[in-house]
Amino acid sequence: MKSIILIAAPAAGKGTEAAKIKEEYNIPHISTGDLLRAEIAKGNEEINELIKSGQLVGDDIVLNLLKNRIMENDCNNGYILDGFPRNVDQAIAYDKILEELNKDIGIVIVLDIDKEIAKSRISGRMSCPNCGKVYNLNNKDMLPKDGNRCTSCDTELTRRADDNPDTYDERYNTYLSKTAPLIDYYKDRGIVYTVSASGTVDETHKQVKEVLGE
Ligand code: AMP
Repeated sequence: MKSIILIAAPAAGKGTEAAKIKEEYNIPHISTGDLLRAEIAKGNEEINELIKSGQLVGDDIVLNLLKNRIMENDCNNGYILDGFPRNVDQAIAYDKILEELNKDIGIVIVLDIDKEIAKSRISGRMSCPNCGKVYNLNNKDMLPKDGNRCTSCDTELTRRADDNPDTYDERYNTYLSKTAPLIDYYKDRGIVYTVSASGTVDETHKQVKEVLGE
């Protein structure tokens, strides 16, 4: 299985799509946001302040966490990156890490979505602090089975501190200025595929499966 880099505006559904790919193709889902939130849970206040304000965390911190994660054995047959790389500097550093570890870049899937549709999704978004599964209380296809507990691991669901409309605008602007240029960075290599993420979870996933060759 090829590794997959998911690129999309915040709340476009990267986490949801990554979880579906993980389940079907049995490759790990690596979210740098989740890796950073795990550092916050261990008491890192600096990261907490940056994430709460919608800014990006420093490249050195993220690259270190990411490199350690992809060196684990479960990544030997490919993995899904959700939230990384977030800017061109990270993409350049990632190319070097791949060369060092003798790994292939794989493909890039862009989840294309209208800003207002993505923003409207954050008001119902809940996630599991234990396994990272994402739910949406405003979407009947994404409800947890039991109240506000994770259907997979029965942990109480939480709302992300940065899921509010003001921080969303800041995160979206960061996406446009820092992350969207990655699409051009990768385009020349012929590995970029764009699918629409404005419809339902299943509609998005169907297109992704077509890209993956099913
Ligand atoms: P996410 O869960 O991907 O929406 O990420 C939540 C927040 O974590 C972002 O708004 C950033 O502050 C931070 N973050 C996640 N991934 C990265 C990354 N690759 N580089 C820098 N900051 C990141």
